[in-house]
Amino acid sequence: MSRLDSFISRMTAQREILNHLRGRLDGLGGPVLELGLGNGRTFDHLRECFPDRRIIVFDRAVGAHKTSVPEPENMVVGEIRETARKFIGINAALAHVDIGTGYDDKDAITLTWLPQLMAGLVAPHGYAVSGLELRHPHLEPLPVLPGVEVGRYFLYRRV
Ligand code: SAM
Repeated sequence: MSRLDSFISRMTAQREILNHLRGRLDGLGGPVLELGLGNGRTFDHLRECFPDRRIIVFDRAVGAHKTSVPEPENMVVGEIRETARKFIGINAALAHVDIGTGYDDKDAITLTWLPQLMAGLVAPHGYAVSGLELRHPHLEPLPVLPGVEVGRYFLYRRV
């Protein structure tokens, strides 16, 4: 599989999972969190999926397309490991994180702190969606959705 194929598969999986969660956050009160703004494409999709929900976005810099820049009060700039830690207990209905690099050694370092952080951000019965596999006793993997390649993108429910 070429890197282009792999990228398309990953983006397809991301979109399938986020679309699957449309309408499933009802009954969960907290915000949506987007960890890794990047170009803002996923943020834009989250706005479409969850139009009535506050979406708080984290990145070390604001580099999004001008149509997809969060309002200043919903944009948290800095290293996610530090900035998002201050939001532990916010009881997010959904937290999506897309900060994988494609380098196993770098991602292994991220995975020393990311699962614990995600488990701390998401409300009980809320959802965590991640491009990196998160192993944590409070994050229960949900069945792989149709259209999602196994191991490409990950959906969890907070227990
Ligand atoms: N989903 C995004 C989109 O639609 O464009 C793409 C996200 S991009 C793959 C990852 C982003 O996460 C980059 O903008 C990068 O700056 C940010 N990022 C990665 N690791 C980070 C960290 N530890 N702290 C803060 N930002 C980080």
